[in-house]
Amino acid sequence: MTSKTIGPGSTLGIVGGGQLGRMIALAAAGYGLKVHVYCPDADSPAFDVAALATCAAYDDAEALTRFARSVDVVTYEFENIPRGTADLLARHAPLHPSAAALATTQDRLAEKDFVNRLGIPTAPFRAVDTPDDLARALDAIGRPAVLKTRRFGYDGKGQRIIRTEADSDRNALFAEFGGAPLILEGFVGFEREVSVVAARAADGGFAAYDLCENEHRDHILAATRVPAPGLSSETARAALAMAQRIADALDYVGVLAVEMFLVRAPDGSEGLVVNEIAPRVHNSGHWTIEGARTSQFAQHVRAICGWPLGDASRTGGMRVEMRNLIGGEAEAWSTLLAEPGAHLHLYGKGEARPGRKMGHVTRLIG
Ligand code: AMP
Repeated sequence: MTSKTIGPGSTLGIVGGGQLGRMIALAAAGYGLKVHVYCPDADSPAFDVAALATCAAYDDAEALTRFARSVDVVTYEFENIPRGTADLLARHAPLHPSAAALATTQDRLAEKDFVNRLGIPTAPFRAVDTPDDLARALDAIGRPAVLKTRRFGYDGKGQRIIRTEADSDRNALFAEFGGAPLILEGFVGFEREVSVVAARAADGGFAAYDLCENEHRDHILAATRVPAPGLSSETARAALAMAQRIADALDYVGVLAVEMFLVRAPDGSEGLVVNEIAPRVHNSGHWTIEGARTSQFAQHVRAICGWPLGDASRTGGMRVEMRNLIGGEAEAWSTLLAEPGAHLHLYGKGEARPGRKMGHVTRLIG
């Protein structure tokens, strides 16, 4: 594989065909790039807006090789692609973020180890590979605690809060997760959830958006407000600095999100605890399409193509609120279209199942 300059007219490969891939593809089109989407699901939202599509499994080496050879650069829109797939892609085309960054961030244990080694706090945690490990981890961490799969979790799937002794039958809990490798985390009594969405370029350039506050409903992001209201400017600066340390240490190229808990000490002081790193564009960055001078999707394309990063400041310094349209909420589309100042995005998904992200709406507020 030889690296070459990527310019307008080049082809960007995106692994994964959900709404994130769709919005990356739309931004790429805005810069005159062609997009090739690779996804196993035939009705993927990103296929609708891509020039080229491959519908094949993530372990189909032949299809992956053909895909990677057909593009000038490859990225992905979700972290649950197997390491072997990432390595294979990287043999045939530049892959950003790298397979190494993906490996660290797709495993909660490797990720927390990595974050702690940078001197950045996380919840206390223990690896759980057997029912006996679980008993020992509960003794060490106490209750309440959160038991999670190490890999392949999202929107609260693959996790369970353990509150009492009665919740703690180690064999039953272990069986519930089907014997998958697990992690037990101490429960963080957070006041709020915040995230940093930022981009890092190959030359180390870094551009962070303002700190976002995230409101979840049933473990799914319901709304993001920017800038996170009511936080001290030191806390906001500290959050952005943590994200930059993480991105630098990963030698990261592209957009990433660092999800954090805001904790408040009895003396009222604010602290930050990192929960998770998403090696991709992120739902809490959707507001940037209208709310920032460069959207997270355009910024990601710039970073992975080796182009200059754009301005990440908020449009006109406005406050911004993004609300997800989940399940039946997207049925209000015509009302939202009629609302002055409401920016509606629909993902083109067929069936509005409960909990399914169907679109989002962004409002810029004075
Ligand atoms: P995650 O899949 O790790 O992003 O977790 C989904 C949601 O569960 C988070 O956004 C939190 O609301 C909650 N959560 C996860 N881990 C913890 C924890 N250790 N302590 C308290 N709440 C948690």
